[in-house]
Amino acid sequence: MAAVSPNFAPTDHAPDKKLPVETTVVPAPRLTDSLGRVIHDLRVSITDRCNYKCVYCRTGELGAQFPELGIDEYLRLIGIFVSLGVTKVRLTGGEPLLRRGIVELVQELGRLRTPSGESLDLALTTNGHLLDGLAAPLKAAGLRRVTVSMDAVDAPTFERITRVPGSFSAVVAGIRAARAAGLTPLKINCVLLRGFNDDQMEGFAHFARREGVVVRFIEFMPLEEGRLWTPEIVVPLKEIVERIGRVLPLVAMEPREASETARRYGFEDGIGEIGIIAPVSQAFCGACSRVRLTSDGKIRTCLFSQVEHDLYGRLRAGASDAELAGYIIRIVQGKEPRHHIGEPGFLKPSRSMVHIGG
Ligand code: SAM
Repeated sequence: MAAVSPNFAPTDHAPDKKLPVETTVVPAPRLTDSLGRVIHDLRVSITDRCNYKCVYCRTGELGAQFPELGIDEYLRLIGIFVSLGVTKVRLTGGEPLLRRGIVELVQELGRLRTPSGESLDLALTTNGHLLDGLAAPLKAAGLRRVTVSMDAVDAPTFERITRVPGSFSAVVAGIRAARAAGLTPLKINCVLLRGFNDDQMEGFAHFARREGVVVRFIEFMPLEEGRLWTPEIVVPLKEIVERIGRVLPLVAMEPREASETARRYGFEDGIGEIGIIAPVSQAFCGACSRVRLTSDGKIRTCLFSQVEHDLYGRLRAGASDAELAGYIIRIVQGKEPRHHIGEPGFLKPSRSMVHIGG
């Protein structure tokens, strides 16, 4: 989007005079990589602590592995990304609702403006456990949308996955509070693993329609702390569409934008939709518009990056905003062309999903 800036300010407002008003179109900054992909989406992990021990994610330890930045430090770094063309910021973790100061952070982010003068598209990914009490304050602070992770629609399966008793009812209450607060469209993300929870997908289709939410199924990626991933455990997009379609017929929907990660399907009767995020069977790296900032201030240009770039180290060493911006521009240039899941020689990243920020 372009900003229009008048470079001639008329001072004589006499109605009978024709004043020469010139405008120059100043292009808004665009953060691009060496392949020409425009980066406008920043995911920021604000803690790597989590209150769930999902069996496909954690080995069981709950503590932080990496230090957290101060809220003012996240703000400064995010502000620099925004000055460079980022328009969408998603807070994540770990579990971001565990982070003290999250409401204040959202409030300050709500005040940021893009170079075109727009407010940010501000979103949050959460397990929803603490959302019942926080949905309304977060909405009031300026949060626009929430994605809640939920891997089963029945309480026993859900709690077998999270390993936290009472978690199912807490998350359902969180989802309802988010909807009541107007944090919509409300999305539910479900990672499907064959033999763990793939029997839940049909139930999720009904849940989506009943609760008025968009459920998105995600193919499991090799980002877990343990060694669970195999190609066979992934439930691919094609199978999800076929199995749900047998119960409730589906119609493919047009993507809203090129960088949209989810393939969308509506139910044939027009009530509700689901999405499928298929990074394994139908990778979307060519349209990737994303970079990540970890809770300890490292830039990751891909979920599967083998290297991280220490932005916070430069901030602490006294770098100016202009120097930090120059560093970000240089690092983003080197964004990996694609991931190599399932290929011979594939290397898991040094951090697991919970420590990267999902
Ligand atoms: N705690 C928050 C939550 O639960 O949404 C944010 C962090 S969590 C790591 C973000 C998302 O990553 C969750 O939806 C989780 O299910 C997903 N996830 C974790 N490990 C994954 C994996 N190996 N493959 C695909 N998605 C994964």
